[in-house]
Amino acid sequence: MIFIFLGPPGSGKGTQAKKLAEKYSIPHIALGDILREAIREGNEVGKLAAQYVEAGKLVPDPVTIKITRERISRPDCMNGFIIDGFPRSLPQARALDEMLGGMDHQVVYIEVPLQQIVARNTGRLSCPVCGAVYHVKNNPPKQAGICDRCGGQLYQRKDDTKDVIETRFKVYDQSTAPVIEYYKDRLVRVDGSGEIDAVFLRLLRALRI
Ligand code: AMP
Repeated sequence: MIFIFLGPPGSGKGTQAKKLAEKYSIPHIALGDILREAIREGNEVGKLAAQYVEAGKLVPDPVTIKITRERISRPDCMNGFIIDGFPRSLPQARALDEMLGGMDHQVVYIEVPLQQIVARNTGRLSCPVCGAVYHVKNNPPKQAGICDRCGGQLYQRKDDTKDVIETRFKVYDQSTAPVIEYYKDRLVRVDGSGEIDAVFLRLLRALRI
């Protein structure tokens, strides 16, 4: 079971990908989480990635391709995995096809009207410890500012501010929208509007599982 999740920032693809990964006990590989973790650790990759992530721009392809290749070759990916946030450019999409080498996979595209996306992005809260994501209005934590899952202190990502969100949308239009075109013949389109659980049901119905 290999799934690739695509969708604009705030489409809810991360939330849905996590739920699917839990249901099938397969790893959820989120490039954004891996990069933020590297930035927190202050390692080589983190030092290079920080300027791009904080500005809402794409980290250079050779870096993200290398991270992905290394991650999906680990033993925990033997029975499948979900990739979320990769590919975000045509070279990444081509590299991923080469990595998969003909292995069966499904490409999911979570579609949401632009208006909803803007509202979702500005209210997002993230947990730095376990990666859980909340929304101040649509999906608030039980206790304000505290992660339900692990008790971590929730924060607003540096790239979830208005200016950086705008840049992320521009980057999406320029670099990531062509990826949708690349996959058009094998794309499973899922309406991502509305409640999390309703979207998840639509997702399960749309997939071949
Ligand atoms: P995300 O958590 O998926 O919204 O990603 C946050 C940020 O990490 C993006 O705005 C980029 O700066 C960087 N990033 C994540 N995935 C990729 C990727 N596949 N290619 C390049 N940069 C990425």
